[in-house]
Amino acid sequence: MRPFQYARAATVDTAITLAREHQGSAFLAGGTTEVDLVRQDVLRPDLLVDINDLPLREVEDLPDGGLRIGALARMSDVAQAPGVRQRFPVISQALLLGASAQLRNMASMGGNLCQRVRCSYFRDVSWPCNKRDPGSGCAALTGFNRGHAILGTSGACIATHPSDVAVALTALDAVVHTRGPAGQRSIGIGDFFLLPGDTPEREHPLEHGELITAIGVPAAPIARRSVYLKFRDRESYEFALVSVAAAVRIQDGTVADVRLALGGVGTKPWRARRAERSLAGQPAETTSYAAAAAAELAQAEPRPLNAFKVELAQRAIVRALATLSNGDGIPAAGGAG
Ligand SMILES: Cc1cc2nc3c(=O)[nH]c(=O)nc-3n(C[C@H](O)[C@H](O)[C@H](O)COP(=O)(O)OP(=O)(O)OC[C@H]3O[C@@H](n4cnc5c(N)ncnc54)[C@H](O)[C@@H]3O)c2cc1C
Ligand code: SF4
Repeated sequence: MRPFQYARAATVDTAITLAREHQGSAFLAGGTTEVDLVRQDVLRPDLLVDINDLPLREVEDLPDGGLRIGALARMSDVAQAPGVRQRFPVISQALLLGASAQLRNMASMGGNLCQRVRCSYFRDVSWPCNKRDPGSGCAALTGFNRGHAILGTSGACIATHPSDVAVALTALDAVVHTRGPAGQRSIGIGDFFLLPGDTPEREHPLEHGELITAIGVPAAPIARRSVYLKFRDRESYEFALVSVAAAVRIQDGTVADVRLALGGVGTKPWRARRAERSLAGQPAETTSYAAAAAAELAQAEPRPLNAFKVELAQRAIVRALATLSNGDGIPAAGGAG
């Protein structure tokens, strides 16, 4: 491991100033993924700015029914917060199905959104990787890409976005609040995650030294009846092959409103807008759900090793919507990762 400096910031302003003064700096929150990547020589910061003393840990229920989640709130605290469990079960379930209990106690919400991809070629410096080393090539294109993306890919990168809770937040139109050298801003989650295009090294629009301070979730009565389903190679401690965040409002047997987002299949948390449009006003039944799922996955660009994800994603969408419309079998927000 290369030597680097360490500084612990007492205020948000200090953290931003310290980061801005060192071009090679990075923020350190729970450290559950940043430290691994530094150890593996994938990331080479010259300064780690520890932000754990900043007052950004609160999970607040807002008077209008929304949520404000501090960037340093731990995954486990957010998952167990009564307002999250009752009004946004999809967020709680997505968190509890991620990582392990120990990791969730350490890992922060801001760090979760900024975690890097799990592509094994990205994490092994002996392979070419455009994301780690722009212009070097992408070993996954012709390599072992069973877990890779089928939506939003480019000729430069096909890595999936790894976060579970980002999928739930995408379905709920969350907003990422930041503070940086240029002041404060609020970024809609759909604009926060960038498609790889020709610049896969750029995963979000944060400027150097810009800190996530909070995540806002707008009031969404539809989210009271919501679910996160995750399909993976083993039932615990594993990233998604396919996941679905869904919320639906059914009126007189038809779909009055629906939110759908997919994980494990996109280079960014994938809002399934085509499926949502297809479902509007349709009978709340399996044939409509299957047609909507097919409409979404029609744009998939699979490779031989990950082609199974196309059908798996369609089945997962149908299962999630059927779970909600049948009104039974909704997983309790309390499972293990
Ligand atoms: C074995 C294992 C299994 C896992 N399984 C899952 C899973 O199934 N699902 C899932 O979603 N996740 C999973 N994770 C990822 C885990 O959720 C992340 O490691 C964690 O959320 C990162 O949070 P952290 O606070 O530890 O971030 P750090 O490791 O401290 O930081 C991560 C990145 O975020 C940046 N950062 C941190 N906070 C901020 C901020 N406020 N503003 C700007 N940048 C910031 C850091 O600079 C760094 O680049 C797994 C991780 C491990 C190690
Ligand atoms: S898929 Fe992306 S992260 Fe993986 S090797 Fe290719 S460029 Fe790197």
